[in-house]
Amino acid sequence: MNLRCQSCGAELVVAAELRTTVCPYCAAPSVVERPASVDRPAPTFALGFALTHQAAGERVKQWLRSRHPWSHSGLKRASLQDVRGVYVPAYLYSALALSEYSASIGEDYTETETYTTTENGKTVTKTRTVTKTEWRPLRGEHAEYVPDVLVTASRGLSNAELEELEPFDLRVLARYEPALVAGWVAEEPSLSREECLRLAREETLARVKQRLGEFMPGDSHQNLQHQTRVEEESLEVCLVPVWVLAARYEPDKPPLRVVVNGQSGEVHGEVPVSLVKVLLTVGVLVLAVVLYALWSQGAFS
Ligand SMILES: [Zn+2]
Repeated sequence: MNLRCQSCGAELVVAAELRTTVCPYCAAPSVVERPASVDRPAPTFALGFALTHQAAGERVKQWLRSRHPWSHSGLKRASLQDVRGVYVPAYLYSALALSEYSASIGEDYTETETYTTTENGKTVTKTRTVTKTEWRPLRGEHAEYVPDVLVTASRGLSNAELEELEPFDLRVLARYEPALVAGWVAEEPSLSREECLRLAREETLARVKQRLGEFMPGDSHQNLQHQTRVEEESLEVCLVPVWVLAARYEPDKPPLRVVVNGQSGEVHGEVPVSLVKVLLTVGVLVLAVVLYALWSQGAFS
């Protein structure tokens, strides 16, 4: 059956017996039935779950215990609710990136220079070694095949969140078959292909820039600029396995949403910070600074 979350816009496909009234992504109780969509691209690939329901819960408990000291103290005892495995739609992109680049390449060299200083009241001349950099311009062309760029196609899981969960092990990528997602909640792409293509190109350009930086010669470089165009683009829908959990850490607060990579167990969530703890820490720091200032002025002697 086909469902839509009226809160976050996720478009779910679930078996009748998994009918849910709560959105697995945002926990909003505003899931309504929708007609089957006809124009959605069908998945080409899928990655299966490797992490069990129980293992995902254990990972999250461990993760909640190891948050930074300022996080809300209720997290350590949080109860995990609505643990759901969701096949999240993503786009798998690859392209040939052709770049023209320019940069300033720095070569370091050492020089011995003489200088004068005063020792025991006398002026003496000494030498020292200094490192200097000579800059020369460099231009060039670079062609590189950029594979396996994964971007979200879901309104329920942002691209930033997906990046936090990456990498997924794409060596076990399988052709999509409906049997694979039977018994699970799956989502149809709810972001447009154009939007996803834009995200994928952005990620590709960022990767190209990083690669160019890695192979620049010399001891250092600056002003690296590149003009890159992409060819032979491929963009296919790929379902990726994600556990979505709600961690309730305080009865009257909305639960914290935690997502887990269904393959690697990588966990991500926006941990609430305890205002009381932050204020206490800041207070202690201010007190320490004030005491130090007083002490350095001799107030305690
Ligand atoms: Zn939702």
